[in-house]
Amino acid sequence: MEFKNLGVNDALLKAINDQHYDTPTPIQEQAIPPTLEGRDVLGLAQTGTGKTAAFAVPTLQNLSLQRNQKQKRVIRSLVLTPTRELAIQIQESFESYGRYLPLKSTVIFGGVGQGKQVAMLKSGVDILVATPGRLKDLVNQGHVNLAAIEIFILDEADRMLDMGFINDVRQIIKLLPQKKQTLLFSATMPKEITQIVDQLLVDPVRISITPVSSTVDTVEQSVYFVDRNHKIDLLADLFKKERMDSVLIFTRTKHGANNVVKDLEKRKIKAQAIHGNKSQEHPDVHSETYYHASPEP
Ligand code: AMP
Repeated sequence: MEFKNLGVNDALLKAINDQHYDTPTPIQEQAIPPTLEGRDVLGLAQTGTGKTAAFAVPTLQNLSLQRNQKQKRVIRSLVLTPTRELAIQIQESFESYGRYLPLKSTVIFGGVGQGKQVAMLKSGVDILVATPGRLKDLVNQGHVNLAAIEIFILDEADRMLDMGFINDVRQIIKLLPQKKQTLLFSATMPKEITQIVDQLLVDPVRISITPVSSTVDTVEQSVYFVDRNHKIDLLADLFKKERMDSVLIFTRTKHGANNVVKDLEKRKIKAQAIHGNKSQEHPDVHSETYYHASPEP
């Protein structure tokens, strides 16, 4: 699959080529075509999946198709993201992907003076990337008008919730026109976000991208809730029940690692600690804090 097969136009293909992206990532492959068609998109994806280009590229293309050069610029796309760092990165992405298009973007975030941001807004922008608090401030002061938004992007929705911005987000959504295209990205779907999705998105295309670091299917995972005093008993019990020839145990501290070894040895389970305070000669695995424990038959 190539970007040109996704319906991306030449100006954007050239900019993507400048970034040396060979092929679209899975989220780009799945999100770009429906976004170009004007559909709402719900993307379950984390940072690192290429989601910024997945929403920025088709947004730029859609905005550029309809831009009337004679009109004064008004904000036609709003990207809401929880942190200043993300906001800056996203706006840089819009700048790089949109370098051959006649569109302007700017970024606003809190914790700094607002003078420069207001001046940029006054000069006219098509795309605004913002964190919620500063956006609300500038809307209240009359520096930002959201009445002409055509494409709204809510990025990292679950982090908005974690960081306590969800009410700001809800208030901002109320200021947007009813008719618009919405793209919502979240790594997880807590119920508050599901509610927003249900109210905000119209017949969305749902895309779910497994994070790169997810565990392979062949690895079985379990969690045991156990109080501190019984952890070793539980471990010994697991060794008894299932035959394990080679086991790695990770602990939080070096001291904890030594204690696990002592406790296992008391139960006749051979174990060794490997951590930064031990020489690397023996055993021959180099790592910070982990164990190799082999139960005796
Ligand atoms: P994101 O998930 O949007 O934060 O992107 C993560 C990183 O992947 C960024 O550094 C992008 O520049 C890079 N990236 C995005 N799309 C592609 C692609 N198709 N090929 C290679 N790198 C990419």
